[in-house]
Amino acid sequence: MSKVVTDVTCPFCGTLCDDLEITVSDDGKEIIDCQNACAIGSEKFLHVRKEGRVTRPRKRQPDGSYKEISYDEAIEYTAQMLAKAKKTLWYGWASTSCEAMAIGHKVAEKAGTIVDNCATVCHGSSLLAIQDVGVPSCTLGEVKNRADRIVFWGCNPAHAHPRHMSRYSIFPRGFFTTKGHKGRKIICVDCRYTDTAKCADEFIQVEQGYDYELLDAFRTVARGQPIPDVVGGVPKEKIISAVNTLKEGRFGVIFFGMGLTHTLGRNHNIDIAINLTRDLNDFTKFSIIAMRGHWNVTGSGQVLSWQYGFPYCVDLTRRTHARYNPGETSSVDLLRRKEVDACICIASDIGAHFPIEATRHMAQIPSVCIDPHINLTTEISDVHIPVALVGVEVEGCAYRMDNVPIACRKVVEPPEGMLTDEELLEKVYDRLCEIMGDA
Ligand code: SF4
Repeated sequence: MSKVVTDVTCPFCGTLCDDLEITVSDDGKEIIDCQNACAIGSEKFLHVRKEGRVTRPRKRQPDGSYKEISYDEAIEYTAQMLAKAKKTLWYGWASTSCEAMAIGHKVAEKAGTIVDNCATVCHGSSLLAIQDVGVPSCTLGEVKNRADRIVFWGCNPAHAHPRHMSRYSIFPRGFFTTKGHKGRKIICVDCRYTDTAKCADEFIQVEQGYDYELLDAFRTVARGQPIPDVVGGVPKEKIISAVNTLKEGRFGVIFFGMGLTHTLGRNHNIDIAINLTRDLNDFTKFSIIAMRGHWNVTGSGQVLSWQYGFPYCVDLTRRTHARYNPGETSSVDLLRRKEVDACICIASDIGAHFPIEATRHMAQIPSVCIDPHINLTTEISDVHIPVALVGVEVEGCAYRMDNVPIACRKVVEPPEGMLTDEELLEKVYDRLCEIMGDA
């Protein structure tokens, strides 16, 4: 016997598809099948019970091997480490719930740590640009129902957000977009011919590092001013034709990714893309949306913003107030400069994403990794604390890439005795209060 749980939200990428149907065994312990998700999303559910899953904390031994310890011992190690360290970096948060973040920040305030999330290595430059110039944006629902002009700039949803194109941006039929793909014009701008470019009506190949110049040319053409014959490797005629296509639409959206945030110009690229969006609003309705990658990375920015006023790189070491200075209080810089003497990585993977100098420093200082699975960071951490999988074994709130909060369901029970992020962090907080008193 089995039962089907409907309207399940996928806890993998920033698209947060909320139409999944998960078949579970009658006792609610095993996932049997996953419908509607892409290959990556399916795997998130189907691999939950695969053999080899670590269900109890592990501590690294002097010879490099790991020994199982109890949750109480792991909590004691974490609380003692936080109490003793002069400056702790607490990085990650992208794959846990907003509820867990709020509790984690309570611990961070008590211990006086730096709290940073994955934006520091992906869309941090977008956040800086948005702080500078604002953002004319909309929801993915509006994209589906209204947008007839779509630009993908420096992003490849065909691989990174596999159902984005079928649920929202290219193929679906919406209230005012009844012809689906046929009623939309898709422009893809990238330095390589990607699988997303194959779905576009027009592919514009920009020379690597010339996105700012090309966006500037788009703005200049939109204002009716002359441009050089070639900009960023793109002929003038192609730029004029693309801008005309955008101006002629009823509702357009620019989706941008790390091909724009992490190429020469960084936040200035986003700044000018936002200003192009503004310019296009003189002719039609236009919006811009960042293709946020990890599931709830947007939520981490939201929770930090409503608690401290800053979306990432939040320095709570002074305890009386939060400070924010990317470059100074950002994870990679802190680790590379060896400025932190302890590190917690939660719901993310420093070992997989950070430069080697930063990762090496993390391996040399006391560290804890809180993650449901073994990853590169767990293997360089002193203690690995496995937790239940949020969005599969625990419910919680997460924010989609368009800043819409979505309640995520629990579909199966976690392994017996396994703590959730929230339970673990509450216990660390209680122990930290006992150790530090009113300090
Ligand atoms: S597109 Fe993203 S959210 Fe949707 S099913 Fe695939 S991995 Fe999950």
